[in-house]
Amino acid sequence: MEFTCGKTHLHGGIFVLRAHLRFTIFVVILAFSFTSRALRAQVSQRPAAFGIPQTPPLVGDTTALALEAQNWLADLVKINTTNPPGNEQAAAKYISGVLAKEGIQAELLDLAPGRSAVVARLRSSVIADPSRALLLVAHMDVVGVDRSKWSVDPFGGVIKEGYLWGRGSIDDKSMLAANLAAFIALKRGAVHLDRDVIFLATADEEQFGDASMKMVIAKFWDKIASGYAINEGGQVVLKNGKAQYVAIQVSEKVSVNVELTATGKGGHSSTPTKDNPVVHIAAAVAKIGNYTAPVHLTSIVRRYFEALAPLEDEETSKWMRVVDTPDRGEHAQRYLSDASPLWNSMMRDTVAPTMLQAGIRANVIPSEARATLNIRLIPGDTIDVFVNDLKKLVNDPQIRWDISLDGGFAAPNSSLDTDLYALMTKVSAQEFGGVPVVPFLSTGATDSAQLRLHNVQAYGLRPMPMTEEDLRRVHGDEERLPLASFAKGVDCLVHIVAEFAVNK
Ligand SMILES: [Zn+2]
Repeated sequence: MEFTCGKTHLHGGIFVLRAHLRFTIFVVILAFSFTSRALRAQVSQRPAAFGIPQTPPLVGDTTALALEAQNWLADLVKINTTNPPGNEQAAAKYISGVLAKEGIQAELLDLAPGRSAVVARLRSSVIADPSRALLLVAHMDVVGVDRSKWSVDPFGGVIKEGYLWGRGSIDDKSMLAANLAAFIALKRGAVHLDRDVIFLATADEEQFGDASMKMVIAKFWDKIASGYAINEGGQVVLKNGKAQYVAIQVSEKVSVNVELTATGKGGHSSTPTKDNPVVHIAAAVAKIGNYTAPVHLTSIVRRYFEALAPLEDEETSKWMRVVDTPDRGEHAQRYLSDASPLWNSMMRDTVAPTMLQAGIRANVIPSEARATLNIRLIPGDTIDVFVNDLKKLVNDPQIRWDISLDGGFAAPNSSLDTDLYALMTKVSAQEFGGVPVVPFLSTGATDSAQLRLHNVQAYGLRPMPMTEEDLRRVHGDEERLPLASFAKGVDCLVHIVAEFAVNK
């Protein structure tokens, strides 16, 4: 079921002034001044002058809303959605309960036993225009934990030392709770929307399996069809207590797994032969581990270095500025690759051997040995070409190569010229003291690639300033979210969503 948003112009502290109602500005402001309810998500209006274009409505103090969202986040962390098996349905039901309290009817989209996505909509008009709709998307599942490495219960929602601790506290339940806050702020405002806003919590993002976004798109596209999306994937980098820059993800690398199998005769280890599969797979892995693919700079990565250059030390900045030039480009690329594994991976296809399997006894030469490679392609590069290069390098007829069929998808970049990108740039610069906003090619995969393939301008954001150390704990031990950063992130997101959804 979907919710039709009312057209009330003043309610619960949120009001919108539309062009044809300009003459009522005075009345509205007067009425507003008499409205003294406790406002949880207050949207205020800058004084508007006649004849001057209206300033869009801006969200007021979000402190109380962020605290509510913090409680939702703690509750969500307590719901163990480790994937596999996921069990996202429990989180979906919780979210649907939070929305129901606000008078929003959410719908559970069943994907597999115990696994559901949840969707809800605030309507702008009776007839939906999907091309204008904004989708707020976050995933409910989390990766597993090694409990022995945690000092607190990873599913306890523990608050300690200014952090909310727990698996998923950053990835991605922080965005889930922030999206809920932004969505609920709009509902509480009962403000007339200029476009539909759709809330979506997905399942199975971490495994990208049968209960993932691809299934939601295949089975329920009409419920989420939209022109714009805000998802995870970006970051606000915090250093020495100060936000350095805001990265908005507009593109992502494509993940593909390749399985290598070496075969041989096998037999007694007292009489070794040259065809021992363990030796062949080890030699192949060693060559692959030392391989560096040629640089392939995309337009987004060029823009990224350009925008980042003024923030870096003199040497790094110098090389960032010439990364693309014919004479000094090569040296610059080498310098930047050596300086940061992230920059290295943003500039080229990469391959990482991640799993090895061989042998059953110490005194038996096995007849088979296997290695798994995780490959991350620059969008536009093809797996066949890359694997062919690796095959030439390994040059071993005893090894079979199998490319996994359920790899990621190469999607076009989201545009840097949309109103939403401009608005995100403007608001995040305001929120974080005028820091640069840079477009970002993420080396990790998100649900956004699927959306981009369906013509959605999807942007990766996580407007919660975090240090590299905070970010390193994502998928690692002791994942924890700084609470002050969360509040800041809620504020930023609520501003972006409110302005995009309401602004004419
Ligand atoms: Zn994630």
